[in-house]
Amino acid sequence: MTSTALPTTDDLRARARTALEHIGVCVPGGNDFEARTPITGESLFGVAAATDADSEQAVAAARAAFLTWRAMPAPRRGELVRRLGVLLREHSSDLADLVTIEAGKIRSEALGEVREMIDICDFAVGLSRQLYGRTIASERPGHRLAETWHPLGVVAVISAFNFPAAVWSWNTAVALVCGDTVIWKPSELTPLVSLACDHLLCRAANEVGAPRDVHRLLLGDRAAGERLVDDPRVALVSATGSTRMGREVGPRVAARFGRSLLELGGNNAAIVAPSADLDLAVQAIVFAAVGTAGQRCTTLRRLIVHRDIAGTLIERLTAAYTKLPIGNPFDDATLVGPLISTTALDAMYHALTRVQARGGTILAGGNRRLAEAAPAAAYTEPVLVCVDEQSDVVREETFAPILYVLTYDTLHEAIALHNDVPQGLSSSIFTRDQQEAEIFLSAAGSDCGIANVNIGTSGAEIGGAFGGEKETGGGRESGSDAWKSYMRSATNTINYSSELALAQGVSFL
Ligand code: NAD
Repeated sequence: MTSTALPTTDDLRARARTALEHIGVCVPGGNDFEARTPITGESLFGVAAATDADSEQAVAAARAAFLTWRAMPAPRRGELVRRLGVLLREHSSDLADLVTIEAGKIRSEALGEVREMIDICDFAVGLSRQLYGRTIASERPGHRLAETWHPLGVVAVISAFNFPAAVWSWNTAVALVCGDTVIWKPSELTPLVSLACDHLLCRAANEVGAPRDVHRLLLGDRAAGERLVDDPRVALVSATGSTRMGREVGPRVAARFGRSLLELGGNNAAIVAPSADLDLAVQAIVFAAVGTAGQRCTTLRRLIVHRDIAGTLIERLTAAYTKLPIGNPFDDATLVGPLISTTALDAMYHALTRVQARGGTILAGGNRRLAEAAPAAAYTEPVLVCVDEQSDVVREETFAPILYVLTYDTLHEAIALHNDVPQGLSSSIFTRDQQEAEIFLSAAGSDCGIANVNIGTSGAEIGGAFGGEKETGGGRESGSDAWKSYMRSATNTINYSSELALAQGVSFL
């Protein structure tokens, strides 16, 4: 494996400053927390966190703006999102720079994240003319039954570090056309990307004459998120992050009868059947397991391989793993950038120690890289581990590039292993046998929110609804009819006759 040379923290600070200036954002100041870069592990700027008073003011302002915004026709609300999409296109390169600097994504993935934001803006603009309700056949003569959809209120978006911009855009573009206003509490690890996105949306709002407070940004740690979680003026808390976070947020929002949309951890698996096209499977597996240095919620973490092809597949994967270029994510040759922190690296090595104690064998990777060049950064070789049981550590999400390999004999056994984890986000099967593929996609197959055939677990398109079951939280965001989570429905019964007919044939008076 090669390691590509790293830029200095001063280089990265200058590059971040340039990107922020191009976008029109003031370089942050403050000393509550730090904007850091995982590329060197060092601090770039001090940042001020939102105070209690800032949160109070933001919620009050977003609530007041909602009262205006909800009355604006949805296609006109779409104009704001259309303008945002144009600004995102203009600033793609600068935004991608910030994503790389703060989240450590390689250039191609950082540009992909910005592309995803543009895609969801386009989707939401179309959606602004398609917030359809249904007309339902009434059982009574001279009556019409209808379902209408109305804006919900203030939506709090709490987001994770690993998709510092895309998750915000999935929520915000859709919430805005639905007539909601948004307060964003991004990850404390990615304040620069957040400032840039907030600025572009403010600019778009100003240019199209939308209320300024349709969007507010609150920087800070979980305490800033908790204030939104507990605020009864926040109608929906859309929270993306770890299952630990969701376990805290879900019950607190429910206790005040608020709505929550939870997008939590995954422990995604792929089944590789004997008929699989192994050339295609190897490429898909390596991207899904190693892309974003194993820090996607949809990262492939478990590979369930038919015993007859396990030897061949492992050999090919091992060869691919030993050639992965690791290092500077700005270098076009790099495929594996840094983990977000040395804490994440420690968690990865702890998981490896545990799995080895349970008989797991490391087949490839696992060494720390670039520790001398950047002691505060966390570069590592992605790891391939052979296990013969799905022990506790395999059933947990370790947010790092570890791929556990298990073998199976029957499809029934493979599906049972696949589903025997607490999480239920993404899944796939590699097979050329249509019957196997259909069984995997059926009610008796994968129990995940995303189930794919001959494509890896990660890299979803925005057109489908995104989310997962069980400890992944059950939420759905992005495309399809996920917009319904951001609105409230009303059932209307309209009597256009001159008779009062009661439902179920009840007679009264
Ligand atoms: P995290 O849970 O540490 O933090 C996520 C966000 O929640 C941050 O903004 C944080 O400040 C906030 N937060 C944490 N505790 C909170 C609380 N008690 N109340 C309110 N806010 C709180 O997650 P992370 O390390 O930033 O991201 C990685 C995790 O996110 C992984 O588990 C990954 O699978 C998951 N993730 C899931 C999806 C998905 O769509 N399912 C997408 C991206 C990431």
